Amino acid sequence: MKLVDAPNKKTSGKPMRAGGPLGIVVHHTASSKKSKDENVIQMCIRGVNKVPGPLYHYLISSDGIVWQIAGENVKANHAGRGNSSVLNGMIKGIPVKGKATTPGKISANSSLVGVSLINDGLGQDIPHPQYQACVDICAYLCDKYGINPLSGVIGHSEWTSRKVDPTFDMGEFRQSVVSKTSQVPEVARLVMAENPDKEPALVEALRPKKKKSAETNMNFPGTLRRGSRSEAVKLLQRRVGAKADGIFGWGTKRKVKAWQKAYNRNKEMSQIPLTVDGFVGRMTWNAMNFVPEDREVHTERAFF
Ligand SMILES: [Zn+2]
Repeated sequence: MKLVDAPNKKTSGKPMRAGGPLGIVVHHTASSKKSKDENVIQMCIRGVNKVPGPLYHYLISSDGIVWQIAGENVKANHAGRGNSSVLNGMIKGIPVKGKATTPGKISANSSLVGVSLINDGLGQDIPHPQYQACVDICAYLCDKYGINPLSGVIGHSEWTSRKVDPTFDMGEFRQSVVSKTSQVPEVARLVMAENPDKEPALVEALRPKKKKSAETNMNFPGTLRRGSRSEAVKLLQRRVGAKADGIFGWGTKRKVKAWQKAYNRNKEMSQIPLTVDGFVGRMTWNAMNFVPEDREVHTERAFF
């Protein structure tokens, strides 16, 4: 895979979800066949009409080059509203059921990486290197974030009935991604290749084990405030970008407030805003996403 940084790549903006993306949405740009790649790339960085950029994280040109146009920590405006059942499937590892039949009501761009082929969507050829590069970048992201390709790699048209992209078969595409990830055991890959219809039954067995560090598994240790000293303080200091010395001082408090403010600005619609007070109570702790995995799923579902 040839991965390059696009000129003017976005490195800052609204942040993605703290625990890493839950899934990947595949698109085409629906740009004119006559547009030069470099112009499409810059347009997708800047945005169009009332949609501010970045419009995706990765763009793939017909020669098979993958252009990163935004950091994976930056939220991109690519998926729009979609179906909560699909996001729920990503969280639980339930395979994608196919094209969406309803427009859907939730926005989840802060949980979704956007990957888009530069293609007009009107029958323009998708050369093999371009398709293959799309498989490769998706497999790379699945491995990096512990995303199950069968539940976590979706076409835009599987997210919402408002969209038709991409034009190729996503079921086949997911199989190709599975074969490229390093997280799926070899035997399972062979079984899948021969029994594509058994996809759902295999999902549980294939479900990648998320690499959970101790950091993401710490239970709420009680409210942390200025004066607190503990390992938990170190965790939150790393999360808010303060010096991780385990001592909750004025500097940490300032950073916590800034983090709470940023969280409130970027939260999904129905998430409850945090009190910007520089205290790390249960709400802020949970928002920082240190909670155990089973509880984390619950938290995610709470905003549907
Ligand atoms: Zn799209």
